[in-house]
Amino acid sequence: MDSQPLLGRTVSHYRIVEKLGGGGMGVVYRAEDDRLGRSVALKFLPPDLARDRQSLERFQREARAASALNHPNICTVYDIDEFDGQPFIVMEVMEGRTLRDSIDGKPIKTAFLVELAIQVADALQTAHAKGIVHRDIKPANIFVTQRGQAKVLDFGLAKVSASAHASGGAAAAELPTLGPGEDLLTSPGTAIGTVAYMSPEQALGEELDQRSDLFSLGVVFYEMATGRQAFSGATSAAVFDSILNKAPVAPVRLNPELPAELERIINKSLEKDRKLRYQTASDLQSDLQRLKRDSESSRTAAVSAAATAASSASIPAVPGRMPFMAGAIGAIVLAAVGFAGYKSGWFESRKPYTQAELNPAQVTTNSAEDPVFTAAISPDGKYLAFADLEGLHLKTVTSGETQSLPIPNEFCFR
Ligand code: ATP
Ligand code: MG
Repeated sequence: MDSQPLLGRTVSHYRIVEKLGGGGMGVVYRAEDDRLGRSVALKFLPPDLARDRQSLERFQREARAASALNHPNICTVYDIDEFDGQPFIVMEVMEGRTLRDSIDGKPIKTAFLVELAIQVADALQTAHAKGIVHRDIKPANIFVTQRGQAKVLDFGLAKVSASAHASGGAAAAELPTLGPGEDLLTSPGTAIGTVAYMSPEQALGEELDQRSDLFSLGVVFYEMATGRQAFSGATSAAVFDSILNKAPVAPVRLNPELPAELERIINKSLEKDRKLRYQTASDLQSDLQRLKRDSESSRTAAVSAAATAASSASIPAVPGRMPFMAGAIGAIVLAAVGFAGYKSGWFESRKPYTQAELNPAQVTTNSAEDPVFTAAISPDGKYLAFADLEGLHLKTVTSGETQSLPIPNEFCFR
């Protein structure tokens, strides 16, 4: 498949411009849809799938079901087609990177983790309500767009692949994307990566329902929270043994800053007995929403406590004179903000500005993962005070010099 010279060719009315990647289920290209004049992604399925009539029909059924999933956190399937006897999916092309690349062995900041988790749970809720179980939830199948939005990929494909392998003589009936010829018990590399997110019932080849996806999502949460896989091993058999019989290292031991409630949510998702797990994506989502609300209110409390300290100390506080007390660091930096504000007329009544005074300029360079959530600029335009997930910052606009104060741990979300 890979050797096929598709780059630069036009397939149906799609002009293939770039290879985006390739996994166990085929190769993905960026293409231009010449009819609608938009960019799309084409995913070609492996030839063994294409050869089997029954699998092909199943693929078409699954693709039809997946294309009915209209959700902002699900990669939209536009069409399915065939080229040279090879079926392909036409889907929304996304800019960003997969969650596998975003994690890259390091924990994701908790606030962002919870945000993404809520979005993925929402996507699953919609799919499950339509009777679609994903069966291959893993970091490589969750995309994080440049705007910090999660998009779930490859709905329905694992089922098709499983059927192709089953009809090709593979042992288990419901296994996800193993490449052709890959042996479940011994093959190293990609097969191990793929089985690591399977639920116990999936590992045992049992009938699957929506709770299987919630377990796999728990494995993904664990990795987002710790940077490490929950279940690992040198062979697929060792990974299965871990999934079926072992408890992973407590997430908080790998990331001491993890909120206890998030650890509880991860553990509940990872219950080996599906009756003890989250039963629905919406239950999981409610717990995540509650965690988000509680931590946002403690963050707001942190900012307003610091702001109160700053306003009460603003006019007389000259940096250097303020007494150093435990727990008063926030007050000091905000006193500095207050001082800057005092010097530059922040606290004076606002004068109307004329249009000619406006001079747009980019003053912060935060990423989508760490957005600025509140900011104020001094009336003379010299100072910018802003807050993001890292803490509070005071920037001198002309020099770019920034003084920062991390949010104190007791208020901090991560
Ligand atoms: P599997 O075959 O088990 O799904 P995988 O998820 O690693 O394995 P693919 O789904 O084939 O592999 O995707 C390969 C890569 O192509 C992805 O990791 C991603 O980087 C890229 N990709 C896939 N779909 C899109 C898309 N719609 N837009 C942009 N990039 C994509
Ligand atoms: Mg995939």
